[in-house]
Amino acid sequence: MQLDNYRPHSALVTKITEIDRPRFPVIDAHNHLAEPFGGGWDKKPLPELLERLDQVNIRLYVDLDGGWGEHILNAHLDYFKAPAPERFKVFGGVDWSQWPALGDKFPDWAAQRLRLQKERGAEGLKVWKGFGLSVRDQQDTLVQVDDPRLEPLWESAAELKLPVLIHVADPVAFFWPLDDQNERWEELVAHPDWQFPSPPFPPFHSIMNGLANLVATHPRTTFIGAHVGCYSENLGWVGELLDRCPNFYIDIGARIAELGRQPYAARKFFIHYADRILFGTDMGPDLDVYRLYFRFLETGDEYFNYDPLDPPPQGRWQIYGLSLPDEVLEKVYFRNAERVICKSDQGG
Ligand SMILES: [Zn+2]
Repeated sequence: MQLDNYRPHSALVTKITEIDRPRFPVIDAHNHLAEPFGGGWDKKPLPELLERLDQVNIRLYVDLDGGWGEHILNAHLDYFKAPAPERFKVFGGVDWSQWPALGDKFPDWAAQRLRLQKERGAEGLKVWKGFGLSVRDQQDTLVQVDDPRLEPLWESAAELKLPVLIHVADPVAFFWPLDDQNERWEELVAHPDWQFPSPPFPPFHSIMNGLANLVATHPRTTFIGAHVGCYSENLGWVGELLDRCPNFYIDIGARIAELGRQPYAARKFFIHYADRILFGTDMGPDLDVYRLYFRFLETGDEYFNYDPLDPPPQGRWQIYGLSLPDEVLEKVYFRNAERVICKSDQGG
């Protein structure tokens, strides 16, 4: 038998708790609605989407797909937010491709664009992982995450009270050699373009140091570190940055696989940083995925698949529920996002 045909079934007889609806209403602070991550809902009927969200009590859905051009942002604002303003928020973005042409003028231009996006209705800024991996300046030099030239952009976000949801780097193993010790071997073989070997890419830790420095240098700007602060494999590192920077928050999108395989550390982390963690799935409005997240956060179920696919796509391991207390669940499900993302509504 080839190893990749091996499909062992667990013989454990353990509790299976079905959670159809979460214990509190939910704000999904990290998700998408267009292709490739959001399921193409910009081309499907809105009532169907709203009904789906109602089924799993997603009260508010943050759509990070506003993009960098007014064209996509406007389309998402018109299609989702205009008819259901209490159900959707749309984040804008930065058009890094303009840096080579605009040169020294780029940072102020990007800040001005952010202002226009807010005027049009954007309620946050999404920074995609190309920042730190592939964004280049007018000298064709890779732009570092903490590049001081970008100060106008980050300070404008603070002034405009727009939270910055930032994703840099990727799972640590994506930066490792693709060999017999790589824990994401199957995933990387299926998606060869997800590998970031150094060189030509910078090492994982230099990107993460850039993120920490960026967040510390702009204490007035609210940063939400996507995917458990972009380093879910090392909760100690993320906790240290949360301790150091009160302007730093994290979301849990697409990372229950990582959190759920270190359940003791993860449970302590959730309880200790209960005010700093935002719910998100990053997998589109998928009912099975939502219910897996609820099961992970609410129950003490043991050794279950973290994904609807079998074998699970990020790595062949299973996860354990965190059985979080109600006061933590309430904060993670909606209170924190209400404070961090919805505060821009209050004007000023
Ligand atoms: Zn995402």
